[in-house]
Amino acid sequence: MDMATATEIRTRKEVGKSSATATGTRTLYDVGESPPLGHVPRRMHAWLIRRERYGEPLESFQPEIVDVPEVGDGEVLVHVMAAGLNYNGIWAGRGRPLDVIRKGEHFHIAGTDGSGIVYKVGKDVTNVQVGDEVVLGGPKWDPNCPTIRAGGYPCYSRTFHIYGYEASWGSFAQFTRVQAHQCFPKPPHLSWEAAAAYLGSGLTSYRMLHRWGEHAVRSGDVVLIWGAAGGLGCQAIQIAREAGAISIGVVSDDSKIEFCKRLGAIGCINRTHYGHWGQVPHWTDSAGFRKWLKGAGEKGGAHAFRRAIWKILGEKRNPRIVVEHAGEDTIATSILVCENGGMVVTCAGTSGYSPIVDLRYLWMRQKRLQGSHAGNLDDIRGINELVMAKRVDPCLSRTFSWEEMAQAHQLMAENRHPPGNMSVLVSAPELGLGVSAE
Ligand code: NAP
Repeated sequence: MDMATATEIRTRKEVGKSSATATGTRTLYDVGESPPLGHVPRRMHAWLIRRERYGEPLESFQPEIVDVPEVGDGEVLVHVMAAGLNYNGIWAGRGRPLDVIRKGEHFHIAGTDGSGIVYKVGKDVTNVQVGDEVVLGGPKWDPNCPTIRAGGYPCYSRTFHIYGYEASWGSFAQFTRVQAHQCFPKPPHLSWEAAAAYLGSGLTSYRMLHRWGEHAVRSGDVVLIWGAAGGLGCQAIQIAREAGAISIGVVSDDSKIEFCKRLGAIGCINRTHYGHWGQVPHWTDSAGFRKWLKGAGEKGGAHAFRRAIWKILGEKRNPRIVVEHAGEDTIATSILVCENGGMVVTCAGTSGYSPIVDLRYLWMRQKRLQGSHAGNLDDIRGINELVMAKRVDPCLSRTFSWEEMAQAHQLMAENRHPPGNMSVLVSAPELGLGVSAE
């Protein structure tokens, strides 16, 4: 064990009891407690990921006590009231595809979503001040990057990265260090836990649906949404609905269908009724390719999946936009069912990164396969304004206690989590706090 590790690890019993200072403040507070506004203790509780325990969440996530980070110029220290859960914590804990612990670092604090109160601001911060209630956007970048200084989109900068995943000091801690531009006004009608839940998935879905030129979602478009009851999916259905589009969801359990319909989907397809998932057979494998298209036994193939879309729509119409993230298992189907001239937009490869794309369906039908990742400030503002106006709901399904952080991630890793988005209480002592407007 290195020196840093030895001093960082302390048990919960040591918490703050003997660390009171002359002013009555303490060097460490219990989880669920808040120091006086603006007082930054020296130490904090956090869930840490370390390289030696990379693996599934129950192994990789462990509670420890560490120093509160310093804030630099343009940075803000936020006292986290609640943290949102998303897949980034799972990827970070596995250490794959990205080893999140950088040279010179001993641990990683995950957590890309959160709500909280500003406790300290660095030099040159003008958009927030101590006491402001904020929600946290994940994208970070170096404002001095030549691309950005030249007016380019931060999203395309080589310095662009996701806080709480590609960079440490995320929201699974009592304090989190962010760049000032990551702070957005907290919707006053939401509790801390609901406010923590939506921004990461919301901004990603917003960008996927709104930012791709002629393929931006339009009124009347048909949109197919994979994982429709998941974090991205529940936001995508609502964003599509607000644009006047018609969405169809894909789920793996009929119990999720009603949830999607309540959000605005006109229907859902249960993907377990089909058996053609995974890499599409090579074009020289005629029998395999035919089976992929037609299905086998009880399970339908790609053609049956397309007919299921038509059945829901009541007409032979294909989706102009397909919202993808499942990856290897589904991309081939997405491209097949997409309307001629339409777009398959993807932000992930949950089932694998190496799909086979049958180019015949792409070029002959002039379809677009578009990558999309997180978003720019405009995308964050776009989704936050919809939530502020109560036109999009965070769809908070379940809030966990601080102690349940690893279990909550494990549920998600096993796809056993409930529909919608999930949160963990950090400094908010109970559910329902933080609401300041009807
Ligand atoms: P989520 O809440 O777990 O929802 C994803 C849903 O996808 C699952 O609930 C599951 O729904 C479905 N799914 C899982 N495996 C599948 C498969 N093999 N085939 C078809 N559907 C499958 O997760 P999320 O928050 O929506 O995130 C989804 C992915 O997007 C993750 O990999 C995440 O890291 C990524 N992501 C990327 C960005 C970005 O900016 N690049 C941002 C947010 C999320 P059913 O079982 O009901 O079908």
